[in-house]
Amino acid sequence: MFIDTHAHINDDKLIDDIQNVIERAHNENVDIIINSGSSYSSSKSSIEIANKFKEVYACIGIHPENCEEYNDEVEKFIIDNANNKKVVAIGEIGLDYHYEGYNCDLQKKVFIKQLELAHRYNLPVVIHSRDATKDMIEILKEYKSLLTNGGLMHCFNGSVETLNEILKLGLKVSFGGIVTFKNARNSSSLITQIPIDSFTLETDCPYLCPEPFRGNLNEPKNIPLIAKKIADILGLNIKEIEEITTKNAKNLFKKLI
Ligand SMILES: [Zn+2]
Repeated sequence: MFIDTHAHINDDKLIDDIQNVIERAHNENVDIIINSGSSYSSSKSSIEIANKFKEVYACIGIHPENCEEYNDEVEKFIIDNANNKKVVAIGEIGLDYHYEGYNCDLQKKVFIKQLELAHRYNLPVVIHSRDATKDMIEILKEYKSLLTNGGLMHCFNGSVETLNEILKLGLKVSFGGIVTFKNARNSSSLITQIPIDSFTLETDCPYLCPEPFRGNLNEPKNIPLIAKKIADILGLNIKEIEEITTKNAKNLFKKLI
């Protein structure tokens, strides 16, 4: 069984077809899908679909691009749902300095607040970091004591140095469709450097569809394409990658059955 550790099947592009999306994933042996919230509304719908489909689990949290919406009501919502048995992590949370006009201070504040919630309610975190490596590593080091439940740096494509910093903090990383892209030299070198117990697989669907379907709508069913590429890079077979990454995901997300 494969686990897609970071998906958005509640996205507008997939939600109307969700039953078939899950079915197609099953047919490819992808039997657990961790759906990530990124806003208040998508965190609510993440819980709704997790409650409805046994193979779907939820992360709840406010993505840095939506940091303005973080308020007492949202915080109460996270607290009220932290003990739901299908809520496996707080995420996706983090820093994103990609688009102009971002509010760096507010992003940091909202990120740290959610790290605190994860710590208080014994949940791991799923972290999004884009064009913000320096601040991200600084915050994670300063608040290392909040990372006792572990965490996943999702869609990781940084340097080997950054990878080592992340691993030192006890976090794992997940690899997605980018590893299959032509010119994915960086991903290949990361994969050859990373300890085998430190990574999981993700689609980040509906985005980042792996080759040979790059540019199309992505779905959890594409996880084996990513696994195959990683297997080829490491000289292992796909079954070994399946077993390793499923074990790693279950070690991190303790509520997965
Ligand atoms: Zn995502």
